[in-house]
Amino acid sequence: MQAKKKDFSEWYNEILESAELSDKRYPVKGMNIWLPYGLKAMNLIDAATRRYNEEFGIDEVSFPVLITRNQLEVEFEHLKGFEGQLYWVTRAGKDQLDVELALRPTSEAAIYPMFSLWIRNHADLPKKVFQICSVYRYETKHTRSFLRMREFRFYEAHTAHVNYEDAEKQIRDYMGIWKKLNEIFLIPNVINRRPDWDKFPGAQYSLAVDSIMPDGRTLQVATMHQYGENFSRTYDIKYSDENGEQRYVSQTTYGMSERLLGGMIGIHGDDKGLIFPPEIAPIQVIIVPIPSEKADISGFSARINERLKAAGIRSSVDTRDNYTPGWKYNYWEMKGVPVRIEVGEREVNEGRITVIIRSSKGRKTFTLAELETAIHHSISEHGRKLFENSEAVIRENVKEATTVEEMKQPFTFFAYWCGRRECSDEIERVAEKSCLGVSVSHPGKGKCIVCGADGERSMFSRTY
Ligand SMILES: [Zn+2]
Repeated sequence: MQAKKKDFSEWYNEILESAELSDKRYPVKGMNIWLPYGLKAMNLIDAATRRYNEEFGIDEVSFPVLITRNQLEVEFEHLKGFEGQLYWVTRAGKDQLDVELALRPTSEAAIYPMFSLWIRNHADLPKKVFQICSVYRYETKHTRSFLRMREFRFYEAHTAHVNYEDAEKQIRDYMGIWKKLNEIFLIPNVINRRPDWDKFPGAQYSLAVDSIMPDGRTLQVATMHQYGENFSRTYDIKYSDENGEQRYVSQTTYGMSERLLGGMIGIHGDDKGLIFPPEIAPIQVIIVPIPSEKADISGFSARINERLKAAGIRSSVDTRDNYTPGWKYNYWEMKGVPVRIEVGEREVNEGRITVIIRSSKGRKTFTLAELETAIHHSISEHGRKLFENSEAVIRENVKEATTVEEMKQPFTFFAYWCGRRECSDEIERVAEKSCLGVSVSHPGKGKCIVCGADGERSMFSRTY
């Protein structure tokens, strides 16, 4: 396998292939097959997303994949933003359809006409829904598994509120959801407010979670948008307030996608392969038997496995007899399993287990009585190690710039910026770094690195 530090891009491609997460040989370009191991990881990401949405009072819904041209044309700015990327369904059998239908690129145009039917009065508010579905965007740039696809797994929350202030509270809730989710994902990130020219089509402003990748570039993994009344005025989403007056709702959205998985692979993996955070690992503990004539290795392994499963741990025994234990160690390290238990003659005779943690060096032994506690601790230790690594990724790859010239280096930079496009264009021209906007998570004030006017701490990077 390629060394990760030497050629990150090549490493990423190789690891996806060998770990069997997805298959890109499907004949429709930009649409991959989710293989069982990749899908299990994605389902665990979705499960965490569902859990925290429920905690924050956002209800799951499921909308149809098709949107009529009329629904889409209601909001011109929004349509314009996606027009070049829409897939159209124009025929049914041999007949031309009366109304052209688009595959959803996102679901504002599907959900908001229904919001205008569902929302009647202030007691119906706030209205908070989300769905997890596939969306379709005809990407013209080079496609890449989990990072840029034409069909991809998408999470989208949509909310409606009595006024702008209540919608602002919702944006803060979204940040709370992200914070909780990232205790699981462990993705090093900075939250930035996108410059006006780069906000979501139809939004008043957009916040983005930019994850820092090991090659110094950034990957946008989540976005939160304040719509204000932009959509409610065009989709006619009104309610009557306490005095019986008709008012437009204020709206927000929150979006994430399978890029989260791509990000986790890129950030946590190493030269041996994948490393999954504990809660996203399809298998948390792999038990590898070391065959012997003199001891009941397979019985012992099976009993350990049962006990771990009973303790709520996703464990499995590699019982394949056509591979050596050494081969299996490498295989499961490549697959990113957090903890390995080796079971040989000595372990069985002494009633002990030997434990290896994927993210740490060395091995430890425990008595059988300690099994569940020892494994729970080992899994947590693995998580802590990944958290430390993710802090290190920020330290090593995000630098503070004092001159535009130094921003030519292959890192992500913080720099003070006045907010004017001329200045960020200058940075783009000299250092080939895009402006990701003013930092919300790492705020600060200083003089613009280009023109010297008053500015705010902002982020500049090459992006995925
Ligand atoms: Zn400036």
